[in-house]
Amino acid sequence: MTDSSSDPRTRADPTSSPDPTGASAPVGPGTPADPGYPATEAEAAAGFPGEPDGFQRLWTPHRMVYIGGQDKPLDSSEKQCPFCAAPGKPDEEGLVVARGKAVYAVLNLYPYNPGHLLICPYRHVADYTDLTPEETVELAEFTQRSMQVVRSVSGPDGFNLGMNQGAVAGAGIAAHLHQHVVPRWSGDANFLPIVARTKALPQVHSQVRELYSKAWETL
Ligand SMILES: [Zn+2]
Repeated sequence: MTDSSSDPRTRADPTSSPDPTGASAPVGPGTPADPGYPATEAEAAAGFPGEPDGFQRLWTPHRMVYIGGQDKPLDSSEKQCPFCAAPGKPDEEGLVVARGKAVYAVLNLYPYNPGHLLICPYRHVADYTDLTPEETVELAEFTQRSMQVVRSVSGPDGFNLGMNQGAVAGAGIAAHLHQHVVPRWSGDANFLPIVARTKALPQVHSQVRELYSKAWETL
């Protein structure tokens, strides 16, 4: 059995560096990514029985709500569609940030990053080419407005904008078009959504929604 303690990949110490997996980047108290609770620590391969395979383990059972598809629609019908349902709820409940004539902005319940917004047409249409001229223009305007709002509230360093067209392209709800507006901060790519406990999520959805909604009206 080899001495794995000298292998940087097997160290659980979050201060060790460099770490090719990125899992041990600084997340402790006083760092920008400090979420306010103990940092998730990777379990070193050396701690498992049998021959170590060199991979650390990050246990993320809380991700099972999403992975298990608890809120996933049973089919592609409007009846099952969360993007058809959200505008029918009060803003606070549906996490709606702003309502236009043809489209609306809503917080993503499963954000890639804090403040991840979605711009959806009210109509249950799947394909970008299905949009009317009015929907196309307002979707673009809401995307721009979202960027202004997120910049003023959250100060991101950049954005990812885009639409996943079809389940094969990664659309979670492929039947109802939605434009992603994902704020990005320098260094946030060190932590993939699957290790979400290492992310800085300083505010719950309801607080973010309220801040964005107010900024949307006042900017
Ligand atoms: Zn829909």
